[in-house]
Amino acid sequence: MKILLLGKNGQVGWELQRALAPIGRVVAPDREGEDGLCGDLTDLEGLRLTIESVQPDIIVNAAAYTAVDKAENEAAKALQINHEAPKFLAEETQRLNGWLVHYSTDYVFDGSGEKPWREYDPTAPLNMYGKSKLLGERAIESSGCKHLIFRTSWVYGAHGNNFAKTMLRLADERDHLQVIDDQIGAPTGADLLADVTAHALHRAVAMPELAGLYHLTSAGETSWYDYARFIVSSALSHGIKLQVENISPISTSEYQTSAQRPRNSRLDTGKLVSNFGLHLPMWQEGITRLLKEVSGNRK
Ligand code: NDP
Repeated sequence: MKILLLGKNGQVGWELQRALAPIGRVVAPDREGEDGLCGDLTDLEGLRLTIESVQPDIIVNAAAYTAVDKAENEAAKALQINHEAPKFLAEETQRLNGWLVHYSTDYVFDGSGEKPWREYDPTAPLNMYGKSKLLGERAIESSGCKHLIFRTSWVYGAHGNNFAKTMLRLADERDHLQVIDDQIGAPTGADLLADVTAHALHRAVAMPELAGLYHLTSAGETSWYDYARFIVSSALSHGIKLQVENISPISTSEYQTSAQRPRNSRLDTGKLVSNFGLHLPMWQEGITRLLKEVSGNRK
């Protein structure tokens, strides 16, 4: 199997380099390109030549425009990377009769209600990032190519920038933190996403009827506020010294951002668990591990 991995330096892409290795030979040009190959999602002709040269059995697209607030003012760029590029990759995958793996987001939903969203619940993104990701999903689905699309939420990893690492840094700099307590979701490790991707891909290649759209997050749920408190208390219990003395909850309306965010980001992972026979760990397990990884030298 030959796998073309795009977005190798992102949180998920970094972990995919490791997790995909046992499935096949991974070719992973970064955005700047290497060995004459192109990994830039804004360069469709470069991608076409790369696909022609590599002839991948599987394309895994971990690259994306992920700057949620900036996307409000950079719609064209967000659409180019999150819609037009996946559409192009899907058409190329269909032409090669290969597989395309792609990632999407809880932000395709409007966040109403309290029930976990299922795959075919109505979508209604609140922001440009969510709209661009939804268009990407739809383009892949309508291309007819064999695909796995994983919608996930609140991604963190030891490699990259994320809420968990930001909270640790702020808790080391400030006495008091205010964190939103009315958005609910599941923090999900890039390592879990990569490992489940490898497992699911391996099964799906043998059983193409498993192709489709799946929700993939850690088990359990939390608010950003409780998540922050967990990070700080776990870090303290591991002997990490922090400045912070007080964390207080605030509502979404008290914290203005350019992009509106859904309150209910719960995703129902039942379809993934039953189709692939998987167990998804509680979100706290991965965060505890992350804290050990990133805090080893901060005691
Ligand atoms: P990151 O922001 O960590 O990584 C995105 C990667 O995409 C970066 O390596 C970036 O490259 C690359 N990229 C951006 N623009 C281009 C381009 N034009 N050409 C090639 N590469 C480009 O994202 P995550 O790993 O966290 O996200 C992986 C997937 O999961 C994405 O599809 C995202 O939409 C989805 N997702 C993420 C969530 C999150 O909380 N982060 C939540 C829900 C879904 P560079 O390093 O050079 O900037």
